[in-house]
Amino acid sequence: MRRRFLLSSALLAPFAAPALAQQAPLPVVASFSILADLLRQIGGDRIAVRVLVGPDADAHNFQPRPSDATALRAARLVVRNGLGFEPWLDRLSGAAGGQAVVATASRDVQSRLLEGGHNHEHGGAGRRRAHGVEPSRVADPHAWQDLRNGQVYVRNIAAALRQADPGGAALYDANAKALLDRLVALDAWVRQQVATVPEARRRVVTSHDAFGYFGAAYGIDFDAPQGISTEDEPSASEVATLVRQLRAAGTSALFVENMTNPALLDRLAKEAGVRVRGRLYSDALSAADGPAATYEAMFRHNVGLLVPAMRGDG
Ligand code: ZN
Repeated sequence: MRRRFLLSSALLAPFAAPALAQQAPLPVVASFSILADLLRQIGGDRIAVRVLVGPDADAHNFQPRPSDATALRAARLVVRNGLGFEPWLDRLSGAAGGQAVVATASRDVQSRLLEGGHNHEHGGAGRRRAHGVEPSRVADPHAWQDLRNGQVYVRNIAAALRQADPGGAALYDANAKALLDRLVALDAWVRQQVATVPEARRRVVTSHDAFGYFGAAYGIDFDAPQGISTEDEPSASEVATLVRQLRAAGTSALFVENMTNPALLDRLAKEAGVRVRGRLYSDALSAADGPAATYEAMFRHNVGLLVPAMRGDG
């Protein structure tokens, strides 16, 4: 009896030691939904992810709430995209204080430049009004739209988790490895799909200039009509110019994006006699029950819309 008691104490001992099994999940903040998904895939139940810019929301124009500062103060790790995507985050973290490790998911990515005049930043209307002033070229932040960059993101996020929580290193490494394998396979699938479209037809028009990396990686020419702002109603002459651009582009692949206002492209499509082929996910994932709830699902959804539209199917 006594012996059995000792044995069971010994078995129980590891679980009674300072809360290893009961350890509270590591509080982590992700600046936007795509990073939150990558974090959850790599960190599993060992971390608790709070996302600042959630599904279908626009990180370019984010207005932080007081509860976001509270979450940043409590966080042990903050993961941001970088490349100028979250100018509000540095101000917010500075104001919040806190001791979190701040990691930049796009670190070591070969960044592209946005062409001057493209209205990538949704606040670009102000620049557009400064007639004749060419905006300086800025880094294009949408690096996650190339799955090879996504693999860089995964490695950076796994490294940041190991640094913030060395005890979880084995789990983070195993999950990151599995995710990397899936992203390599997904990248090959995207190339295979695009290869079914004749080269001359690989042209797409979207509402927001978010697919530069995607286009460069997979050989598709993306146009975002100039001067579209998500904030302003365009003038009649701007609309006329855009309609001419759409007709000249001669593409049947016209898309809106999930976090922008679809009304403008709907109107353009009607006036140009082109059908909007659906909603691409660029800067935010869908809600959990939507078609792009994860980074991987976003690519499957987007490619599943883009390829038939470019081919002219349907
Ligand atoms: Zn964007």
